Amino acid sequence: MPIIQTQQLFKIYNEDTIPVYALRDLSLDFEEGEFTTIVGPSGSGKTTLLNMIGGLDTPTRGDVFIDGTNIASLRKGDLIDFRLRNIGFVFQSYNLIPVLTALENVSLIMELQNLDPKSTRERALQVLEEVGLADKLHSKPSELSGGQQQRVAVARALASRPKFVLADEPTANLDSKAAMNLLDIMAKLNEEESMTFIFSTHDQRVIERARRVVTLVDGALHEDLVKAK
Ligand code: ADP
Ligand code: ADP
Repeated sequence: MPIIQTQQLFKIYNEDTIPVYALRDLSLDFEEGEFTTIVGPSGSGKTTLLNMIGGLDTPTRGDVFIDGTNIASLRKGDLIDFRLRNIGFVFQSYNLIPVLTALENVSLIMELQNLDPKSTRERALQVLEEVGLADKLHSKPSELSGGQQQRVAVARALASRPKFVLADEPTANLDSKAAMNLLDIMAKLNEEESMTFIFSTHDQRVIERARRVVTLVDGALHEDLVKAK
């Protein structure tokens, strides 16, 4: 069974005035362990698709299934729990909490999941080390570079071992060295822990690293390319 399925997904903004078809009839399957990028011109629906898959916004028509569960069937509180347990998010704006240290930012989601404090701390330390920030545990976001903040955001997304990670232009604000570092971290987790990644990008070097490239144009599926191994 695919880990994520979208069925005839439509998202229409401003349906009552001047409708914007952000997604048109998208039916896509994503299997566990994929390393997939969503590409397409600005305004083609990439962010909207990631928001629908992540349950951050609801489709106008159509359904999203995660592990066979139709996320529209979940009540609000259950959806929040479901997201915490299953999905890691990495956004362009890192959404780190300014008053918390790197370690605290990474620990927060696990604390919300009521994991015991000892394993929370161990796991947070482990992922921060994996992303090369073992010496920045007690730094606040304002004391970190853009690339370092992005790596805290990635560590936070990975810490609770989500079933899959959704990343919206994760390298957009990074210089090319930091961007490739981030891709290396993602690829390693994909290979070693078979963590599923779906990320949008404009960056040709990032597209080259993906194993599947889904291209959207005007909200519709334009091409779905799986590269040969
Ligand atoms: P991309 O991520 O590929 O740049 P988006 O998913 O952000 O594309 O946007 C797809 C289309 O939906 C665009 O035409 C955009 O202007 C429109 N759109 C996105 N969010 C909203 C919104 N909240 N209200 C109205 N239109 C929106
Ligand atoms: P900036 O945002 O200022 O470009 P980076 O976050 O890209 O900074 O990198 C800062 C330093 O950390 C660099 O010397 C880089 O080589 C190192 N670095 C980046 N990623 C990793 C990683 N995954 N593991 C270890 N060190 C890293």
